[in-house]
Amino acid sequence: MKILVPVKRVVDYNVKVRVAADGSGVETQGLKMSLNPFDEIAVEEAIRLREKGVATEVVVVTIGVQAAQDILRTSMAMGADRAILVKTDDTLEPRAVANALKAIVEREQPGLVCMGKQAIDDDMNATGQILAAKLGWPQGTFASAVTVADGRIEVAREIDGGTEVVSLALPAVVTADLRLNEPRYASLPNIMKARKKPLETLEATDLGVDLASRLTIVSVAEPTERKEGIKLGSAAELVEKLKTEAKVI
Ligand code: AMP
Repeated sequence: MKILVPVKRVVDYNVKVRVAADGSGVETQGLKMSLNPFDEIAVEEAIRLREKGVATEVVVVTIGVQAAQDILRTSMAMGADRAILVKTDDTLEPRAVANALKAIVEREQPGLVCMGKQAIDDDMNATGQILAAKLGWPQGTFASAVTVADGRIEVAREIDGGTEVVSLALPAVVTADLRLNEPRYASLPNIMKARKKPLETLEATDLGVDLASRLTIVSVAEPTERKEGIKLGSAAELVEKLKTEAKVI
Protein backbone atom coordinates (compact mmCIF):
# COMPACT_ATOMS: atom_id res chain seq x y z
CA MET A 1 0.00 0.00 0.00
CA LYS A 2 1.17 3.47 -0.88
CA ILE A 3 0.61 6.32 1.61
CA LEU A 4 0.28 9.90 0.38
CA VAL A 5 1.12 12.59 2.93
CA PRO A 6 0.14 16.18 2.05
CA VAL A 7 2.41 18.64 3.87
CA LYS A 8 2.32 22.43 4.16
CA ARG A 9 5.08 24.99 4.68
CA VAL A 10 4.11 27.41 7.45
CA VAL A 11 5.77 30.04 9.64
CA ASP A 12 7.75 28.13 12.27
CA TYR A 13 5.78 27.59 15.47
CA ASN A 14 8.49 29.34 17.53
CA VAL A 15 8.16 32.58 15.58
CA LYS A 16 5.81 35.27 16.82
CA VAL A 17 3.83 36.35 13.79
CA ARG A 18 2.81 39.95 13.12
CA VAL A 19 -0.09 41.29 11.14
CA ALA A 20 0.95 42.66 7.74
CA ALA A 21 0.80 46.44 7.45
CA ASP A 22 -2.12 46.32 4.99
CA GLY A 23 -4.14 44.00 7.29
CA SER A 24 -4.44 41.36 4.56
CA GLY A 25 -2.79 38.58 6.55
CA VAL A 26 0.35 37.93 8.55
CA GLU A 27 3.88 38.97 7.65
CA THR A 28 5.92 36.00 6.32
CA GLN A 29 8.81 37.88 4.71
CA GLY A 30 12.16 36.87 6.17
CA LEU A 31 10.62 34.55 8.78
CA LYS A 32 11.73 31.00 9.51
CA MET A 33 9.40 28.60 7.67
CA SER A 34 8.96 24.95 8.63
CA LEU A 35 6.99 21.79 8.03
CA ASN A 36 3.56 22.21 9.69
CA PRO A 37 3.86 20.32 13.04
CA PHE A 38 0.74 18.17 12.47
CA ASP A 39 2.10 17.20 9.04
CA GLU A 40 5.37 16.15 10.67
CA ILE A 41 3.29 13.80 12.83
CA ALA A 42 1.50 12.51 9.70
CA VAL A 43 4.85 11.86 7.97
CA GLU A 44 6.11 10.02 11.07
CA GLU A 45 2.99 7.82 11.19
CA ALA A 46 3.27 6.95 7.51
CA ILE A 47 6.94 5.99 7.96
CA ARG A 48 6.04 3.83 10.98
CA LEU A 49 3.38 2.04 8.92
CA ARG A 50 5.99 1.36 6.23
CA GLU A 51 8.46 0.15 8.85
CA LYS A 52 5.78 -2.25 10.18
CA GLY A 53 5.35 -3.63 6.67
CA VAL A 54 1.81 -2.26 6.34
CA ALA A 55 2.85 0.25 3.67
CA THR A 56 5.39 -0.09 0.87
CA GLU A 57 5.94 3.55 -0.09
CA VAL A 58 5.50 6.99 1.49
CA VAL A 59 5.01 9.88 -0.94
CA VAL A 60 4.88 13.47 0.34
CA VAL A 61 3.22 16.26 -1.60
CA THR A 62 2.98 19.99 -1.11
CA ILE A 63 1.14 22.66 -3.02
CA GLY A 64 3.13 25.83 -2.69
CA VAL A 65 6.01 28.02 -3.79
CA GLN A 66 9.31 26.73 -5.18
CA ALA A 67 10.96 27.24 -1.76
CA ALA A 68 8.52 24.70 -0.26
CA GLN A 69 10.95 22.09 -1.57
CA ASP A 70 12.67 22.44 1.81
CA ILE A 71 9.81 20.78 3.73
CA LEU A 72 9.73 17.97 1.15
CA ARG A 73 13.45 17.37 1.75
CA THR A 74 12.83 17.47 5.52
CA SER A 75 10.09 14.84 5.12
CA MET A 76 12.39 12.68 3.01
CA ALA A 77 15.17 13.08 5.58
CA MET A 78 12.71 11.70 8.15
CA GLY A 79 12.14 8.71 5.83
CA ALA A 80 9.59 9.49 3.09
CA ASP A 81 10.57 7.82 -0.19
CA ARG A 82 9.80 10.52 -2.74
CA ALA A 83 8.15 13.91 -3.10
CA ILE A 84 5.95 15.97 -5.37
CA LEU A 85 5.95 19.77 -5.44
CA VAL A 86 2.82 21.23 -7.04
CA LYS A 87 4.04 24.73 -7.75
CA THR A 88 1.95 27.86 -7.31
CA ASP A 89 2.69 31.38 -6.11
CA ASP A 90 -0.94 31.88 -5.10
CA THR A 91 -2.27 31.37 -1.59
CA LEU A 92 -4.85 28.66 -1.99
CA GLU A 93 -7.83 28.10 0.30
CA PRO A 94 -8.64 24.56 1.56
CA ARG A 95 -11.18 23.87 -1.20
CA ALA A 96 -8.59 24.63 -3.90
CA VAL A 97 -5.87 22.63 -2.08
CA ALA A 98 -8.30 19.70 -1.82
CA ASN A 99 -9.00 19.94 -5.58
CA ALA A 100 -5.26 19.81 -6.31
CA LEU A 101 -4.73 16.95 -3.84
CA LYS A 102 -7.61 14.99 -5.40
CA ALA A 103 -5.84 15.22 -8.78
CA ILE A 104 -2.64 13.89 -7.16
CA VAL A 105 -4.59 11.08 -5.45
CA GLU A 106 -6.08 10.07 -8.81
CA ARG A 107 -2.59 10.00 -10.30
CA GLU A 108 -0.85 8.20 -7.43
CA GLN A 109 -3.68 5.89 -6.30
CA PRO A 110 -2.62 5.65 -2.63
CA GLY A 111 -4.36 3.26 -0.25
CA LEU A 112 -4.27 5.91 2.48
CA VAL A 113 -3.95 9.68 2.67
CA CYS A 114 -2.43 10.62 6.02
CA MET A 115 -2.27 14.36 6.69
CA GLY A 116 -2.30 16.99 9.44
CA LYS A 117 -5.53 17.90 11.21
CA GLN A 118 -4.78 21.58 10.61
CA ALA A 119 -2.15 23.96 9.37
CA ILE A 120 -1.00 26.24 12.19
CA ASP A 121 -0.91 29.36 9.98
CA ASP A 122 -4.62 29.89 9.43
CA ASP A 123 -6.01 27.00 11.53
CA MET A 124 -8.57 26.05 8.88
CA ASN A 125 -8.92 22.38 9.91
CA ALA A 126 -10.78 21.75 6.66
CA THR A 127 -8.58 20.34 3.90
CA GLY A 128 -8.68 16.67 4.98
CA GLN A 129 -12.45 16.73 5.39
CA ILE A 130 -13.01 18.42 2.00
CA LEU A 131 -10.60 16.01 0.29
CA ALA A 132 -12.37 12.94 1.77
CA ALA A 133 -15.75 14.32 0.65
CA LYS A 134 -14.51 15.04 -2.87
CA LEU A 135 -12.97 11.56 -3.16
CA GLY A 136 -16.02 9.88 -1.60
CA TRP A 137 -13.63 8.19 0.87
CA PRO A 138 -14.22 7.61 4.59
CA GLN A 139 -12.39 9.93 6.96
CA GLY A 140 -10.89 9.53 10.43
CA THR A 141 -10.05 12.98 11.76
CA PHE A 142 -8.11 13.99 14.92
CA ALA A 143 -6.35 10.60 15.04
CA SER A 144 -4.46 9.70 18.22
CA ALA A 145 -3.83 6.05 17.22
CA VAL A 146 -4.21 4.02 14.04
CA THR A 147 -4.14 0.28 13.26
CA VAL A 148 -4.32 -1.19 9.78
CA ALA A 149 -5.62 -4.73 9.23
CA ASP A 150 -7.67 -6.65 6.64
CA GLY A 151 -8.23 -3.74 4.27
CA ARG A 152 -9.47 -1.46 7.05
CA ILE A 153 -7.96 1.20 9.28
CA GLU A 154 -9.04 1.63 12.86
CA VAL A 155 -8.69 5.22 14.03
CA ALA A 156 -8.88 6.37 17.65
CA ARG A 157 -10.23 9.92 17.41
CA GLU A 158 -9.73 12.63 20.01
CA ILE A 159 -13.14 13.99 20.85
CA ASP A 160 -14.37 16.22 23.68
CA GLY A 161 -13.88 14.32 26.91
CA GLY A 162 -12.63 11.06 25.44
CA THR A 163 -11.74 8.87 22.50
CA GLU A 164 -13.96 7.56 19.74
CA VAL A 165 -12.78 4.54 17.73
CA VAL A 166 -13.94 4.27 14.13
CA SER A 167 -13.18 1.54 11.58
CA LEU A 168 -12.82 2.75 7.98
CA ALA A 169 -12.63 0.77 4.77
CA LEU A 170 -9.47 1.64 2.82
CA PRO A 171 -8.77 3.79 0.87
CA ALA A 172 -9.40 6.48 3.45
CA VAL A 173 -8.26 9.89 4.68
CA VAL A 174 -6.80 10.17 8.19
CA THR A 175 -5.85 13.46 9.84
CA ALA A 176 -3.25 13.46 12.61
CA ASP A 177 -3.71 14.98 16.05
CA LEU A 178 -0.93 15.90 18.48
CA ARG A 179 -0.82 12.66 20.47
CA LEU A 180 -0.57 10.29 17.48
CA ASN A 181 3.23 10.00 17.88
CA GLU A 182 6.43 11.88 18.57
CA PRO A 183 8.17 12.58 15.27
CA ARG A 184 11.79 11.49 14.91
CA TYR A 185 14.67 13.88 14.25
CA ALA A 186 16.34 13.49 10.89
CA SER A 187 19.94 12.33 11.32
CA LEU A 188 22.72 14.04 9.35
CA PRO A 189 23.32 10.97 7.11
CA ASN A 190 19.57 10.85 6.37
CA ILE A 191 19.55 14.57 5.54
CA MET A 192 22.36 13.88 3.05
CA LYS A 193 20.52 10.85 1.62
CA ALA A 194 17.31 12.87 1.23
CA ARG A 195 19.08 15.20 -1.21
CA LYS A 196 19.25 12.34 -3.69
CA LYS A 197 15.67 11.14 -3.29
CA PRO A 198 13.29 11.88 -6.21
CA LEU A 199 11.45 15.22 -6.11
CA GLU A 200 9.07 15.82 -8.98
CA THR A 201 7.80 19.33 -9.77
CA LEU A 202 4.42 20.00 -11.41
CA GLU A 203 2.69 23.28 -12.19
CA ALA A 204 -0.59 23.64 -10.25
CA THR A 205 -2.25 25.14 -13.34
CA ASP A 206 -1.39 21.96 -15.31
CA LEU A 207 -3.58 19.83 -13.02
CA GLY A 208 -6.70 21.18 -14.75
CA VAL A 209 -8.61 21.69 -11.50
CA ASP A 210 -10.45 24.68 -10.02
CA LEU A 211 -7.98 26.67 -7.91
CA ALA A 212 -10.10 29.82 -7.63
CA SER A 213 -10.74 31.44 -4.25
CA ARG A 214 -14.22 31.81 -2.90
CA LEU A 215 -13.14 33.19 0.45
CA THR A 216 -12.24 36.84 0.90
CA ILE A 217 -10.24 37.87 3.95
CA VAL A 218 -12.02 40.95 5.24
CA SER A 219 -9.40 41.91 7.82
CA VAL A 220 -6.71 40.47 10.07
CA ALA A 221 -5.99 42.19 13.40
CA GLU A 222 -3.80 41.67 16.46
CA PRO A 223 -5.71 40.54 19.56
CA THR A 224 -6.58 43.48 21.82
CA GLU A 225 -4.01 43.94 24.57
CA ARG A 226 -5.01 42.71 28.01
CA LYS A 227 -4.53 44.86 31.06
CA GLU A 228 -1.82 43.65 33.41
CA GLY A 229 -3.12 41.71 36.43
CA ILE A 230 -2.58 42.74 40.07
CA LYS A 231 -2.01 40.76 43.26
CA LEU A 232 -4.39 41.45 46.15
CA GLY A 233 -3.65 41.08 49.83
CA SER A 234 -6.84 39.41 50.98
CA ALA A 235 -10.20 37.96 49.99
CA ALA A 236 -11.89 41.03 51.53
CA GLU A 237 -9.92 43.28 49.19
CA LEU A 238 -11.00 41.12 46.24
CA VAL A 239 -14.67 41.38 47.23
CA GLU A 240 -14.29 45.15 47.59
CA LYS A 241 -12.75 45.49 44.12
CA LEU A 242 -15.38 43.23 42.54
CA LYS A 243 -18.03 45.50 44.09
CA THR A 244 -16.56 48.91 43.45
CA GLU A 245 -14.29 48.52 40.40
CA ALA A 246 -15.48 45.57 38.34
CA LYS A 247 -19.05 46.11 39.58
CA VAL A 248 -19.89 42.46 39.05
CA ILE A 249 -21.27 41.72 42.53
P1 AMP B 1 -5.92 23.23 6.92
O1 AMP B 1 -7.24 22.69 6.48
O2 AMP B 1 -5.43 24.39 6.07
O3 AMP B 1 -5.87 23.54 8.41
O4 AMP B 1 -4.83 22.07 6.66
C1 AMP B 1 -5.05 20.73 7.07
C2 AMP B 1 -4.00 19.85 6.43
O5 AMP B 1 -4.14 19.88 5.02
C3 AMP B 1 -2.56 20.25 6.69
O6 AMP B 1 -2.12 19.77 7.95
C4 AMP B 1 -1.85 19.55 5.52
O7 AMP B 1 -1.70 18.16 5.77
C5 AMP B 1 -2.87 19.73 4.39
N1 AMP B 1 -2.58 20.94 3.59
C6 AMP B 1 -3.07 22.18 3.78
N2 AMP B 1 -2.55 23.04 2.87
C7 AMP B 1 -1.71 22.31 2.09
C8 AMP B 1 -0.87 22.60 0.98
N3 AMP B 1 -0.77 23.82 0.47
N4 AMP B 1 -0.14 21.58 0.44
C9 AMP B 1 -0.23 20.33 0.94
N5 AMP B 1 -1.00 20.00 1.98
C10 AMP B 1 -1.73 20.96 2.55
